[in-house]
Amino acid sequence: MSEDFQEVWEDLVGIPADPPSMRELCENCTRPKLVCWCSYLPATPLVTKCCIVILQHPAEEKRCLRTVPMLSLGLAPGLCHVYKGKKFPQQRHTGLEDLMHAPNSVLLYPSPQSVDLSDLPKLASGGYDSYNLFLLDGTWPQAKAIYHSSPLLHSMKQVKLLTTGTSEYVIRTQPTEGCLSTLETAALALTILENREVIRETLLKPLKALCDFQLDHGAVTHQSKEYLIKTRTYPKLIGKRLSRLLNGVSPNAAESDASHSDKEVGPNQ
Ligand SMILES: [Zn+2]
Repeated sequence: MSEDFQEVWEDLVGIPADPPSMRELCENCTRPKLVCWCSYLPATPLVTKCCIVILQHPAEEKRCLRTVPMLSLGLAPGLCHVYKGKKFPQQRHTGLEDLMHAPNSVLLYPSPQSVDLSDLPKLASGGYDSYNLFLLDGTWPQAKAIYHSSPLLHSMKQVKLLTTGTSEYVIRTQPTEGCLSTLETAALALTILENREVIRETLLKPLKALCDFQLDHGAVTHQSKEYLIKTRTYPKLIGKRLSRLLNGVSPNAAESDASHSDKEVGPNQ
């Protein structure tokens, strides 16, 4: 027994304080490879006449589902600019102030003076050759705070989307918001401005793929160790002997040591 005890002790000592990272990240989208959506990006990034300027609240970057990378990777280089901050422009926002002053820049923001985006003069038919479409990226309170802290935004031409075609993914992608994701908003606005439905279809593919994936697996990944083991995301940290001993003594002790939160996993796994 004392030999067994020694072996068990060695197993215990061998458990790393921090579980090793089991998730390989995609270099392109920086998401775990398992949930990478890069294969749904267009083979050739989309070339649009208009460009998107995203003013992003710093907290937005930390959210789980960020749709802006899908947009910036789906569009050709130079067509999606992202500036981060709580007010705009700041000194570090190179080129932003000029963009905000440009006559063909419009801000998508539902203020009392904003006009329907569809009513903007159409491209190249008496209107401009392109628009710079500004979007505020964050929750609605964050977007409002950005707007109120950025006086230059108030003097920009403001537009709103009056479409009733709300997202088919809205519940899944925006659990705390009753609005379109930034990707969907940008894709829809570009589609209207350029009158090309293919823009929306193309840009939304990664989001659709991600939503389908979450529907298929989302509930499972939160509950099932079996799934995590199959996909090699479940950290196996303890040896057989220790596992057996712990299972014999206290079925749940092994789980609470070896996993973060799998409370629903049965003791005999
Ligand atoms: Zn990827």
